[in-house]
Amino acid sequence: RTVLRELPEIYNLDISPSETFPDADPSVFHKRYLKKMRDLGEGHFGKVTLYLYDPSNDGTGERVAVKALKQENGHVPEGWMKEIEILKSLYHSNIVKYKGCCTELGGQVVQLIMEYLPLGSLREYLPKRKLCVPQCLMFAQQICQGMEYLHSKRYVHRDLAARNVLVENDSLVKIGDFGLTKYIPEGEIYYRVREDGDSPVFWYAIECLKENKFSFPTDIWSFGVTLYEILTRCDHRQSPPTTPHGQMTMLILIKLLEKRLRLPCPKECPHEVKTLMEQCWDEDPAKRPTFGFLIEKFEAIRR
Ligand code: ADP
Ligand code: MG
Repeated sequence: RTVLRELPEIYNLDISPSETFPDADPSVFHKRYLKKMRDLGEGHFGKVTLYLYDPSNDGTGERVAVKALKQENGHVPEGWMKEIEILKSLYHSNIVKYKGCCTELGGQVVQLIMEYLPLGSLREYLPKRKLCVPQCLMFAQQICQGMEYLHSKRYVHRDLAARNVLVENDSLVKIGDFGLTKYIPEGEIYYRVREDGDSPVFWYAIECLKENKFSFPTDIWSFGVTLYEILTRCDHRQSPPTTPHGQMTMLILIKLLEKRLRLPCPKECPHEVKTLMEQCWDEDPAKRPTFGFLIEKFEAIRR
């Protein structure tokens, strides 16, 4: 083995240690062992595919979800490497697990390998099931738990929505898609971004629409919309649109929100939950609850 390890240096061959010893680094995935099973979904930036990672080539491998950028143009965008680094640094039972990367063409293409969640996102899962309210609230609380952890690491998610919450089984959900996540340095309260016609504006707090300011309370607003999606079981007739919008849509939305108009209360939504949702949509970010507060409330309501 030691001789083998030294061979590449002696002969100047381009073999990485993980190629010689496939077990060396479990976070290095090799393209040739990835067998495509099916497409899982796509959003604005990425495309996620189910693969069987099968180095022994006998069908005994493990299923993994592989996220690739939709547009690849010869270089790896900085934001994509950030997304990978962020997911790599997160360990929580309600956050999708990072497994590793698959690098091709000498680093020109990088794919993110994560655990596969068999039931897809809440958007695919909820319309198919007749989920009862207590189960909805259990999922809501788990999302708050993952988000409380994310905020404790000073990250704002910026894209919390049912489409970005993944379902492991009937009693476990995990937050996925950290593509828009930003770090808020200690001592600062918000992150300002450039406006973008692809933004999920119907999940955005009023200050995001007006001033492009993102902070911990803006995730709380998006959580309120996610809670609304869960309680309407992601019924597409009641869901806000995700398609690209024009400047006009944004101006109308701001006008409506300024007039204190909000999404309607879902059918069969318990009164205490309606109150929480309204608090999440307070125009004053300082008056919105924190995820810690929401966890306590959900525990009390579910008891
Ligand atoms: P984008 O950044 O383009 O929005 P996402 O990370 O949100 O990409 O993934 C797009 C879709 O792929 C999700 O809405 C979900 O349906 C599916 N998906 C993503 N990750 C997984 C996973 N780990 N297991 C199963 N399905 C997944
Ligand atoms: Mg997404």
